[in-house]
Amino acid sequence: MSNQVISFDYVLTAKAGQVIDASAKGKPLIFISGLGQIIPGLEVILLAMEPLQKKTVTIEAKEAYGVYDEALVFKVDRSKLPTAEFQMGDMFEVGEGDRLSPVSITAINGDEITLDGNHPLAGEDLTFAVEIVAKRPATAEELAHGHVHGAGGCHH
Ligand SMILES: [Zn+2]
Repeated sequence: MSNQVISFDYVLTAKAGQVIDASAKGKPLIFISGLGQIIPGLEVILLAMEPLQKKTVTIEAKEAYGVYDEALVFKVDRSKLPTAEFQMGDMFEVGEGDRLSPVSITAINGDEITLDGNHPLAGEDLTFAVEIVAKRPATAEELAHGHVHGAGGCHH
């Protein structure tokens, strides 16, 4: 199938039922399929739906933000952090050049700081209530730019 521009409303809930995220009223999320712009498990579902169709689906962690990887958890001395002012949950990037990875602080034990490189939603099965607002083939220009033009996208 050719790349599609899909706009959709969504409400995202985690296993425990709490709402994690949702599109704002009248401001659907818009993306181009086939470019890795949204989680793969959800893209497959949306591609098979038609405008105005609604659906509630649960996406397994491995098709969402990945399974939780213990190998991405590591400890550093507080002197290694980019700032002396920090608290639990703070996020920043580690690494060099184009190999920067986001990490968050998950434990503070004196000078020993635990950093976690997993996505905050890694390991979570996610439930999306979605409604397709609009769907059309992407233009050659949009594909060349890698983003949507016009309503809900880039105006340039
Ligand atoms: Zn553009």
